[in-house]
Amino acid sequence: MPAYDPNNIFARILRGEIPNKTVLETEHTLAFHDIMPKAPVHVLVIPKGAYVSYDDFAANASEAEIVDFTRAVAQVTRELGVDLDQGQGFRAIANAGEHGVQEVPHFHMHILGGRNIGRMVN
Ligand code: IMP
Repeated sequence: MPAYDPNNIFARILRGEIPNKTVLETEHTLAFHDIMPKAPVHVLVIPKGAYVSYDDFAANASEAEIVDFTRAVAQVTRELGVDLDQGQGFRAIANAGEHGVQEVPHFHMHILGGRNIGRMVN
């Protein structure tokens, strides 16, 4: 696991050094619109804690952080109207590392929806 870079762009967003279009903020989680959306709905959900990737988060985050994050993802889908109860649907993606083509080394989940996403995105 690479060391966490405290100056990655999402760390700077969390410190308030770079503006973001927030969708949801909870105790342990922040969700905001992707700056280069690939779909009508494209939101990034990130833990506030310093985790590099999905596997780092799964192994090292507290249960409270993991529950908070998981429920925040679902809440974002409801607030943006792409959850299944509202008849649409979404894709959740976490890119990890070089082969996953992860650009920002702070764990994040992409939420994509608002159109049929097709079989592969990103
Ligand atoms: P990755 O390839 O999974 O690491 O995705 C990183 C995402 O972060 C890309 O979809 C970028 O468009 C997005 N992004 C980069 N900088 C910013 C920013 O400052 N605000 C919001 N999204 C960003």
